[in-house]
Amino acid sequence: MASGSELIRRVREQIREVDPREVHDLLQHGNGSGNGTVIVDVREQHEYEEAHLPGARHVPRGHLESRIEGSAPDKDARVILYCASGQRSALAAKTLEELLGYSNVESMNGGITLWKDRGFEVEVPRSLSAEQRERYSRHILVPEIGLEGQMKLLGAKVLLLGAGGLGSPAALYLAAAGVGTIGLVDDDVVDLSNLQRQVAHSSDRVGMPKVDSAEISIHEINPDVKVDKHQVRLGPDNVMELIGGYDVVVDGLDNFPTRYLLNDASVRLSIPVVSASILGFDGQLSVFKPFDGPCYRCLYPTPPPAELAPSCGAAGVLGVLPGVMGLLQSVEVIKLVTGAGEPLIGRLLLYEALGATFTELKVRRDPQCPICSRDPSEISDEEMGVFPDYEAFCAG
Ligand SMILES: [Zn+2]
Repeated sequence: MASGSELIRRVREQIREVDPREVHDLLQHGNGSGNGTVIVDVREQHEYEEAHLPGARHVPRGHLESRIEGSAPDKDARVILYCASGQRSALAAKTLEELLGYSNVESMNGGITLWKDRGFEVEVPRSLSAEQRERYSRHILVPEIGLEGQMKLLGAKVLLLGAGGLGSPAALYLAAAGVGTIGLVDDDVVDLSNLQRQVAHSSDRVGMPKVDSAEISIHEINPDVKVDKHQVRLGPDNVMELIGGYDVVVDGLDNFPTRYLLNDASVRLSIPVVSASILGFDGQLSVFKPFDGPCYRCLYPTPPPAELAPSCGAAGVLGVLPGVMGLLQSVEVIKLVTGAGEPLIGRLLLYEALGATFTELKVRRDPQCPICSRDPSEISDEEMGVFPDYEAFCAG
């Protein structure tokens, strides 16, 4: 039986090793992710959190078999593993090659210790408190979010336009997810007829401003969330000021004129908007990320017919439906903030609840779009939110 050090020596002869200098050059030239190379830190959580190589993903060696595919899905991609000194990563490299079928694995010689000795830069993440670590532990375990994604969520500012049917579930789940700042724009008060779907409010808060009621619910779930309340109606005079400074806007607006106004302002400020709408048993969802994909005006160059405008009178809605759509919005927000997955940019998702079908339509950017085909600085205040007279629109 070989001793531990003898085993490691033998394993190191069987695997390929790479010098920190080469890894450093790879990162320096921006090739680290560009050519598909994945750098994986196999140390324990506390070691990774102290400092790690820039852009390194974290898969502790104890969870290697179960989690590596989340961080390195392509088994033929170049995978560079490292630990503190190059021993654990050597053993991990052997496991990846022999048991998991990875074809191009290397272990960084000397680990992060030699990396630091050479004077190369490390990333020192801000750290979570013990309570935050526990609260967000199920996020941290997801490779696509992890500690880094959770830190991004905690640093994120998300604005909810409307604290009603769509805004309520979004507010609750985004608060639970640890979005650091949630802005609420709503000038309404809680009405008994809202409670069939607006779950951020409650029977004992009927008559209370929705922004105050939603703030209570948010803080009951997560006292760390900073809530910015705006008990106003979104209009041409305040839209730029309201949405400026936010990372993502969640559109839970119930009328088309304001949607156009929001679109024009968000393009001007280059802020992504996660938009959803509902009517009866039908829901729609899309992400409008200025200049990366189409804007709302590319999708709807002219407003839809008045009978499809829910705000033109009291339209009925299945109470659960805004819950479904508001949560789909929340998922898109988390993807935009953390960079995980493929946001719903240039795609319109249609949910038809009675038939239980999801349909996806491609939406292209309109090269003639009156707003997003232009330089944002050229869009004047007068051009924003240009829309037919709303009273006339609803009457028609
Ligand atoms: Zn456009």
